Amino acid sequence: MDDLTFHAETLLTHSGREHNQMGGTVNVPVYRASTLLFPTVSALQSVQGTLNTYGRHGSPTTRSLERVLCDLEGAAGAMLTPSGLSAVTTALLANLQPGDHLLMTDSVYDPTRAFCNKTLKCFGIETTYYDPLIGADIAQLMRSNTRVVFVESPGSLTFEVQDVPAIAQVAHAHNAIVIIDNTWGTPLHFASFKHGVDVSVHAATKYIVGHSDVLMGVIMTTEEQYPKVRAFYKHLGISVSSDDAYMALRGLRTLAARLDRHQSNALAVIDWLKCQPEVESVLSPALPGCPGHELWKRDFTGFNGLFGVIFKPLPESAVSALLDGMNIFGMGYSWGGYESLIIPANPSAYRTATSWNAHGPLIRFHIGLEHPKDLIKDLDQAFGRLRKLNNR
Ligand SMILES: *Cc1c(COP(=O)(O)O)cnc(C)c1O
Repeated sequence: MDDLTFHAETLLTHSGREHNQMGGTVNVPVYRASTLLFPTVSALQSVQGTLNTYGRHGSPTTRSLERVLCDLEGAAGAMLTPSGLSAVTTALLANLQPGDHLLMTDSVYDPTRAFCNKTLKCFGIETTYYDPLIGADIAQLMRSNTRVVFVESPGSLTFEVQDVPAIAQVAHAHNAIVIIDNTWGTPLHFASFKHGVDVSVHAATKYIVGHSDVLMGVIMTTEEQYPKVRAFYKHLGISVSSDDAYMALRGLRTLAARLDRHQSNALAVIDWLKCQPEVESVLSPALPGCPGHELWKRDFTGFNGLFGVIFKPLPESAVSALLDGMNIFGMGYSWGGYESLIIPANPSAYRTATSWNAHGPLIRFHIGLEHPKDLIKDLDQAFGRLRKLNNR
């Protein structure tokens, strides 16, 4: 929808539905097509240079999803990718050349780090990691060949909120751009482009899809960035299926309602966790004491179900005692679906520019849409297993 004065909930419900309503359907159909046919030579010629020549360049289904995402985050253009990681790597490659320098937050999603350390390195692109809490002091790390500053705010394992506007101001003054991994923020809770970001990437796999059944990424850009990134994306031959786009669009429609419930459920579980003597601290940007909490209050409009819990020092076997035998919580490497997940994490294995100083284990929680009392009961039993082990 063109009218950006609508609230997010209204955009989520109505944007991206400007299809020709075949049969009067509410939803845009799944357009399965590689080949598009043209009745005349002049019709064929008239679409040259547009996205309407061939199936790889998208369909009404994929374009509807792109439309909603742009409307929500305030982007000039969007491109869908087959995974969140491919959105990250495509956005980086579109903006870096041999001899360039990249500044990367030390809190970044580990597969992004692996891409920098292996693939970008082979391409002659150097990466320097920086403390996520560096703010405007990033100026000290800028070099004449620094082209990209990459932020992930908050980090999806350790939850430091970054001062994105301060970092963007420094980057732009040095002729570099800012790419954000905005997966945690979602297009609803962090307005990247208002905060100085040039390119925003998401693992749509998480809250946008929201149902743990589709892998997808999205790259969104400013007007200025769009032609270059779109051309690069096109040259790489990246394309997603309309079936997957349909599923993502279907999930996306309920994003605001789901996030509200993820938030309130997470708060209920956090309140309970904070009262357990084994818990050292809870890492959620919404809580005072979480690094960058003041920045979260300034820049974000909400949080969600993903947070970390640092435990007091525990014996080796304690984490297994806690996590083995959960009834409701599943153990898996993802988040953003409707279901609750719990997983042990070890940030010290990844860090290079900063160190992770927690003495006890870190466990990451994703609170789903179950009733919080049932989740707390499951956790109460888990802490019971832990205490039994400790008392032996
Ligand atoms: C999951 C995730 C990704 C990668 O998304 P995939 O769809 O699994 O490739 C990237 N960044 C963050 C912060 C993530 O949580």
